[in-house]
Amino acid sequence: MQLIDGKFVSAQIQEEIALEVDALKASGKRVPHLAAVLVGNDGASETYVASKVKSCEKVGFSSSLLRFDANISEAALLKVVQDLNENPEIDGFIVQLPLPKHIDANKILLAIDPDKDVDGFHPANVGKMVLNLPCFIPATPYGILLLIERYKIETAGKHCVVIGRSNIVGFPMTILMGRNTYPGNCTVTMTHSKTKDLQAEALRADILIAALGRPEFVTANMVKQGAVVIDVGITRVVDTTKKSGFALKGDVKFDEVLPKCSYITPVPGGVGLMTVTALLKNTLQAYYNRMGTTEKLFFEF
Ligand code: NAD
Repeated sequence: MQLIDGKFVSAQIQEEIALEVDALKASGKRVPHLAAVLVGNDGASETYVASKVKSCEKVGFSSSLLRFDANISEAALLKVVQDLNENPEIDGFIVQLPLPKHIDANKILLAIDPDKDVDGFHPANVGKMVLNLPCFIPATPYGILLLIERYKIETAGKHCVVIGRSNIVGFPMTILMGRNTYPGNCTVTMTHSKTKDLQAEALRADILIAALGRPEFVTANMVKQGAVVIDVGITRVVDTTKKSGFALKGDVKFDEVLPKCSYITPVPGGVGLMTVTALLKNTLQAYYNRMGTTEKLFFEF
């Protein structure tokens, strides 16, 4: 069994990005610039956005955090998006979800210029992803592909079972693992809350990707001997032994599943750390696209 170390891979890729930024600076060029839009003061969103901004600083990107009150109107937020679309200084931007109920998140998403949509949520990017064309891949699935690639895990001809079909993780993961590329070329099964016999489906997986948001849902009797297990879930559960009063749990019952796996991602320290790193890679790609260079990233799809 090998542990997939998201902390190590994430640091390694961020170091590679930082070197690229150093080279840009040395040649007198401007650096990539990511903007993040945060509406309201949801605790989790604050944490995610803060970590994105901090990571930008770490690799040498410019970053802007645009904060708005929870009662900003939809029209005003659309204007913010339009301004970012038109701002030549900004290479890519994200609108942190969820948005307050009075704002139609789809309307905001559709207003983002696909060339600056580094979250990869715009239908133009989703469509390109399906067709295996160059695009921005949503950060968490992209981070998973990077882990698979860095650990040189074989995927061709494998049976991949994805648990969960959200637009940000499960659904794109099923598309990506089935594409005619590496990582990919799997036979893919998408499972969800209406799947009849989830255990039977999961047991067929050579690569099992759990993204349902139910702590320790995947138990040893759902995992085939030698499977690769990717745990996307992050749920806070009460833990009085911790100073913070909570612990982070994945969707996989780690200790029980560990002995059966060929590879497994821990929580924390697995997929979670890769999401921001993948966002940085998308931002660097957006920068190169906008600069019109043919420069290649170290890892491409
Ligand atoms: P979501 O709630 O949008 O989707 C959950 C999916 O799981 C749904 O498609 C649903 O059909 C399926 N599901 C729910 N219960 C099920 C069951 N009993 N059996 C089979 N399928 C079931 O969640 P999401 O946004 O995709 O996130 C999933 C988990 O991944 C969460 O724990 C979330 O915190 C985590 N997450 C982590 C990262 C990261 O690592 N950076 C990013 C995004 C999400």
